[in-house]
Amino acid sequence: MSLVISTALLESIRTHARTAGSEECCGLLLGARESGHVAAVLPAANVAAEPRHFFEIDPAVLLRAHREARTGGPAILGHYHSHPEGNPTPSPVDAAMAQGDGEIWLLVGSNGAAQAWRAVPSGRLHGRFEPIALVEADAPPAAG
Ligand SMILES: [Zn+2]
Repeated sequence: MSLVISTALLESIRTHARTAGSEECCGLLLGARESGHVAAVLPAANVAAEPRHFFEIDPAVLLRAHREARTGGPAILGHYHSHPEGNPTPSPVDAAMAQGDGEIWLLVGSNGAAQAWRAVPSGRLHGRFEPIALVEADAPPAAG
């Protein structure tokens, strides 16, 4: 499987990461689960107590996205977050937070490099993540 995202959406995530400065930014990836196409990006506040080293997506944004997904809106493919001083590789803390439920984790590193991962029951990284291809393409607009 791969994650397909338009250049514009990926650039909006990079901009979010840059704007957040030394703090981790985060947000949701919305789209079609079957194809792995990202239709929309939903930036969220990082409400973690130490946003320089951790991220926690604003629960109000999560709630709203889940409610919209239940009522015909785009599915939640996963989420993104940045590592302002690191690589776009999930940390052991990320692995401890991950459910292993197939959710997509998109990470942006200090230099804007992006890498997509999938949280699985037993992955090669920290026993939790498998790298997946990040396909940068201009996707058609999502239905719904
Ligand atoms: Zn992380």
